[in-house]
Amino acid sequence: MNALRRFRQLVAFLLLLALPVLCACGAESAETAAEETAAPQRVEPKGKAYYTYFDTVSYVYDYAGDSAERFDDRSAEVSHILLEYHQLFDIYHEYSGVTNLCTLNKAAGGEPLAVDRRLVDFLLCAKEMYTLTDGEMNVMLGSVLQLWHECREAAAEDPMHASIPPEEELRRAWAHTDIDSLEIDEAACTVRITDPEASIDVGALGKGYATERAAEYLEQEGAVGYVLNIGGNIRCIGDRPDGSGWVTAIRDPDKSAQDFACRIRIRDTACVTSGVYERYFTVDGQRYHHIIDKDTLYPAAYFSSLTVVTRDSALADALSTALFCMPAEEGLKLAENIGGVELLWIFPDGTSQSTPGFADLIEEPEES
Ligand code: ADP
Ligand code: MG
Repeated sequence: MNALRRFRQLVAFLLLLALPVLCACGAESAETAAEETAAPQRVEPKGKAYYTYFDTVSYVYDYAGDSAERFDDRSAEVSHILLEYHQLFDIYHEYSGVTNLCTLNKAAGGEPLAVDRRLVDFLLCAKEMYTLTDGEMNVMLGSVLQLWHECREAAAEDPMHASIPPEEELRRAWAHTDIDSLEIDEAACTVRITDPEASIDVGALGKGYATERAAEYLEQEGAVGYVLNIGGNIRCIGDRPDGSGWVTAIRDPDKSAQDFACRIRIRDTACVTSGVYERYFTVDGQRYHHIIDKDTLYPAAYFSSLTVVTRDSALADALSTALFCMPAEEGLKLAENIGGVELLWIFPDGTSQSTPGFADLIEEPEES
């Protein structure tokens, strides 16, 4: 199962790597001959892949023409940042010398634990995102998500006997998802979960948050012309040196990973998609995906995928999950209130809707 996912992700990401290069070639051929001598030489992008963070594949691309040594240094630091957040956010494993979310979940109902400042900052951000999204993205949904996770794992082992969690169990678990049971003492740098049956799950926010921290590092370095792709969370740092941006593809949820609903040109921003095809299992011919609507405690049924383009990758990640659980009109209102958030909704019947700002990003298919 994991190997298959990894393979699929690899194919998708290799395509993503190829796309900006292909499109850039097109853009370059359109440039005027008059600019030929002044135009900077287009550099070959450099890329590195990492396979061990957040149960997914992470890529760092440099289009800025950095020396091999500088790229090695910068990508090594990005990798280091991802590693540290990976360890802090892991809910299944503990690491020596690290008090992480697994430790906090195990200690639920007990005393406050001293944690790394970065974990406090992250959990404060998670609470902010809860408020911003009216509770649709709730990192304290762990007890409910765990039930779905167990069924998904069991289905992978034995698809013939796959089942979904019983409604009463979901309801019982729901009683242990209060965001206030996550107590953060900012000054003392401690955290505790007051409800012994509650647990944290940061699947909806962790990758995007870590991506943003890595992007922040690159920005502080003055790096321009980098792209991070952390398990599909795309974050462009600045623009390409020639100002042409990057083209990325939004998958068609009804087709294979190589089929695109559209392609968009982005720069200096993040792009995150949540979709029904990411992680799911099937019971009696019905598909159950991994994004859970707090109002039903079942997989959200509004869309097949939802894409968010906004500068901050953590916000993009939180919104991709939260807006997936809201009707399009509500999501639109929320996005307009926040500002600088562009959206593409793809509905189960294959139709789509986007904000005007998103439509402006779309690359028209080339005439054949
Ligand atoms: P992906 O993990 O595929 O990038 P998302 O960003 O939408 O997709 O995150 C989905 C993950 O978030 C789930 O696997 C689960 O761990 C968690 N999750 C699902 N529903 C919610 C929710 N309503 N609020 C908070 N976390 C959720
Ligand atoms: Mg998300």
